[in-house]
Amino acid sequence: MTRRQCTGEYKVKPIKQKVRELLGYPYPSRIPKGVFAEQWVGISTDEFHRAKDADVKYMRNRHPLLDMSWSRSDCVRYLTSFGLADTPKSSCLGCPFHGNAQWRHIRDTSPSEWADVVEFDAAIRQGNARANASGSRLLGEAFLHRSRVPLSQAPIDHVTAAERAALQLSVEEAEVLESGVEDGCSPWACRGDAEALTQDGFGLAT
Ligand code: SF4
Repeated sequence: MTRRQCTGEYKVKPIKQKVRELLGYPYPSRIPKGVFAEQWVGISTDEFHRAKDADVKYMRNRHPLLDMSWSRSDCVRYLTSFGLADTPKSSCLGCPFHGNAQWRHIRDTSPSEWADVVEFDAAIRQGNARANASGSRLLGEAFLHRSRVPLSQAPIDHVTAAERAALQLSVEEAEVLESGVEDGCSPWACRGDAEALTQDGFGLAT
């Protein structure tokens, strides 16, 4: 796994910036005690362990789904009543925690989004000067798919025998490769936290 700061950099930081702006105290102004914005975070009862307090005093998290004791299936039932039964869990398009099934879904249902992720995958190949956790350049190349093959050619239709052998995976573990991290991702509950599955979410070939 290379340095990964997606949630912090692209979600949490801009949200805090906006909240400060809305409160009228843009950075680096000091926010007076007692001034805060309330944020509603959609964590359901199935994942109550992901509910956390905000890490700054000027934001307070509320979890309305927990307050109403709604599970994921309650949410799906509610969405279904509005014809939105196929609402997916949220995540970024080019998330390295996608499994093959998620990549296939993008490829097979949205050609423009597939073109976008293929382009993104090609763009990260050399990483950048602060590419890994110690701030060193990548010695190899970065890939979104764990096969360490460009996404456009990666074996996303099934976990190959070669992948299984290379990673010494059992059939059950290979199944996890297929499904990826199924948790959704929000600024306050990053699916990267569920990375027990993938110690090397961004494939790195040396
Ligand atoms: S969905 Fe994936 S890429 Fe996006 S913030 Fe979460 S872990 Fe990062």
